[in-house]
Amino acid sequence: MKKKLSNQFLGNFFVIFFIMILDIVLAFVLLSYASGLISDSLIKNKFPASAIIKDDYRQIDISAVVENGGGIQVVDKEYRVVYSRGLDTIGKDRLTAEEFTTFLTESPKKPYHYDILYNPKGEFWLIVTFPTSIRLDFSLVYNKDAPASDFMRSGLVIALVVFAYLLILALFAFIYSRITAASITVPLQKLCDGTRLLREGDYSVRVDLRLKNEFAQLQDTFNDMASRIEHEISLRKKSEEDRKKLILDISHDLKNPMSSIQGYTELLMEKSGMTEKERNEYLEIILNNSKKTNKLLNELFELSQMDSPEFSLKLNKTDICEYIRQVCGDLVPQLEREGFLYEFDISEESIFLMLDTDRFGRIFQNLANNTLQYNPQGTLVSVRLTVENNQAVIDFSDDGIGVPAHLADNIFMPFIRVDDFRNSKTGGSGLGLSIAKKIAEAHGGDLTLHPKQDRGSTFRIRIPII
Ligand code: ADP
Repeated sequence: MKKKLSNQFLGNFFVIFFIMILDIVLAFVLLSYASGLISDSLIKNKFPASAIIKDDYRQIDISAVVENGGGIQVVDKEYRVVYSRGLDTIGKDRLTAEEFTTFLTESPKKPYHYDILYNPKGEFWLIVTFPTSIRLDFSLVYNKDAPASDFMRSGLVIALVVFAYLLILALFAFIYSRITAASITVPLQKLCDGTRLLREGDYSVRVDLRLKNEFAQLQDTFNDMASRIEHEISLRKKSEEDRKKLILDISHDLKNPMSSIQGYTELLMEKSGMTEKERNEYLEIILNNSKKTNKLLNELFELSQMDSPEFSLKLNKTDICEYIRQVCGDLVPQLEREGFLYEFDISEESIFLMLDTDRFGRIFQNLANNTLQYNPQGTLVSVRLTVENNQAVIDFSDDGIGVPAHLADNIFMPFIRVDDFRNSKTGGSGLGLSIAKKIAEAHGGDLTLHPKQDRGSTFRIRIPII
């Protein structure tokens, strides 16, 4: 790719240089043609020395020349300036033979047009001077009577100069084309390398072109794409790890009650001469383990239901203040029975939300169950409802044992429990908070944990107000 682009650039530059040379030649041809066209109308050609010269220079009509900004000088054979009118570029009354020769030879280089004519009768030179407007001195002069050796030498020099000129031009075209091509091929190559690495699975690859042109935009798009892919891949890895962990946790949590059910059922079937009391004890163990297994499976089903694309809430416009007051009222008898203290701070005004009240009730039920289950008697339970940033904020707090800070972020993940041993005894599956958070999220809100500085914890539910 690099070679092809470079060669294409080189070809293009040669074509452009060739066109430029043709253009220059054409410009000279046009210039000489155009100057031929206008030459008759130029002042200097209107008053040639031959037209005004007289044998007696005093009779020369100088008026038209002087009026048109020109000048007339007459130099006699002694090189004295015997007559001078109008523009005078000689500036002396007398010249030496050497000075006059220099004047004659140098005159074509000066910004004046000199028309010099010798009058043999009057023995003087008539010099008609006009200022030159613009003049380009470029002409090809040759004489076929010149010696062949001179022709050879001059021709060779001209050929060499043209050859050197073309060679330098070609060299410039080559270098310039390579530099221009490199400004495209180098960033392109870097982007190609980056894409190749990405294809080979290196998602950390980023391209740094240090450019500010369109390639920089391409670089930003590429880097953005790479970081998105990297992010997606890491999410996929994490979700794969989570899935594996979930399967491990489920099988671990099902293994114990299932083996216990199997063991006691076999015992019931095989053991003879069992007392009524013994038999009831075994049946109770089987029943408890069945309940535990059933609860776990139901919660797992609920959790996976909420992850399925078909899951939807049955939303109704609900006054959240009224609803929370009702839920708290229902909670009071249980709190009092268990010896818990309570305080509720719920606004009297109406705040309307779109709620699936059945599902939303599960959040409250779970938070209340946890508080009662994991905290000692005398724990103060408080519920507070405020409005913040167009969201209803419900704080469900207790001043109990609290959740350790290091678990605060993960406590909403399935099967996360503060104390595995204690919970498995008390029957906690570690799924309740995951379900509660998913319900809050399905309502467009969130459920977060804010460990309290002193004691206990605050679970905060946020739901957008309509
Ligand atoms: P579980 O079914 O085990 O209760 P959850 O997801 O509801 O599962 O709770 C996860 C863990 O968080 C619990 O096992 C418990 O250790 C801890 N926890 C939840 N709420 C509280 C609370 N109010 N006070 C202390 N610990 C709590």
